[in-house]
Amino acid sequence: MAAGAIVYDAVYKDHDTGNHIESSSRMDAIIERIQEDEHARRIPRVKPAKATVDQVRANHDPNYVASVRQLAQAGGGWLDLDTYCSSKSYDVALLAVGGAICAVDAVAADASNAVAVVRPPGHHAVRDKAMGFCIFNNVACAAKYALSHHDIDRILIVDWDVHHGNGTQASFYDDAHVLYASTHQQPFYPGTGDFEEVGSGEGEGFTVNLPLRPGVNDESFFYAYDHLFIPIAKQFEPQLTFISAGQDVHYADPIGGMLVTSDGFRGLTERIKSATPRGKVIACLEGGYNLQALADSVLAVCGSLFDFPTRINDDAVDQGVSKHVCDRVDKAITIQSEYWQL
Ligand SMILES: [Zn+2]
Repeated sequence: MAAGAIVYDAVYKDHDTGNHIESSSRMDAIIERIQEDEHARRIPRVKPAKATVDQVRANHDPNYVASVRQLAQAGGGWLDLDTYCSSKSYDVALLAVGGAICAVDAVAADASNAVAVVRPPGHHAVRDKAMGFCIFNNVACAAKYALSHHDIDRILIVDWDVHHGNGTQASFYDDAHVLYASTHQQPFYPGTGDFEEVGSGEGEGFTVNLPLRPGVNDESFFYAYDHLFIPIAKQFEPQLTFISAGQDVHYADPIGGMLVTSDGFRGLTERIKSATPRGKVIACLEGGYNLQALADSVLAVCGSLFDFPTRINDDAVDQGVSKHVCDRVDKAITIQSEYWQL
């Protein structure tokens, strides 16, 4: 079993969203599952520090950052139609960014890989506004931190959340240092992430989108990774890889319509590791709203990243690679072949 790091702080539960589906009980479910597992409980836990305002401003408009602080200080309120800010949410959102940054520092030191169990999630947050339960973009801020504070200039971000990570894509759309690759349900919130969104300027070819209809199972996701994401990632040769780990692609998730099993997340993580042979991998929590499925899936990711066995007895869901996915992968390959050997 490799020495890794699980970044977590109970303070994440202080982002009080009431009866919202993105609730503090997600943290309890994950941490209890880790604690129950004889291997996972031995992975070192690291408590993060809050990100500095400058670390957040590296990816966000200073006026927006200040507006979140002011709303929290005033007692809280809605940042957008589905993103709530409680009185403590500004500080917790800084700690979520700090958690992703802490994971960067941990793997840059001696941790093999890292898992950041953080909330609020981040991948929808754009430069000047909150979106889709996300206040600050944790992975985007941490990637910018890694580029500026460590000897790293090629970062891969694989986003398997059922929703497209519009905020992360936008952060690096014209940047060749960060390759953003996303599978997501379409049509679905937030409506971005079509095949033709491939980046612009120096970043053209460094955004890879594979929008999918609902009902995609493990084997079909593996097929997409094996034929599209992983060949591109291996040519890119990332020095550091983030997984925007949204477990709302699990078949039991109440929001998403995908069919990934808990064990399936291990298969995806193994593939991402194989594409990062000389670098470290950080899985940073995004969505995932069935508590049992979320906890099991995070355990499977930990098992892959920290090299311990996991076998989660999910109900078998239909298997086999669907023609729909083959067709979608073919279309993406046609578009991406302009930039990569596929
Ligand atoms: Zn999501």
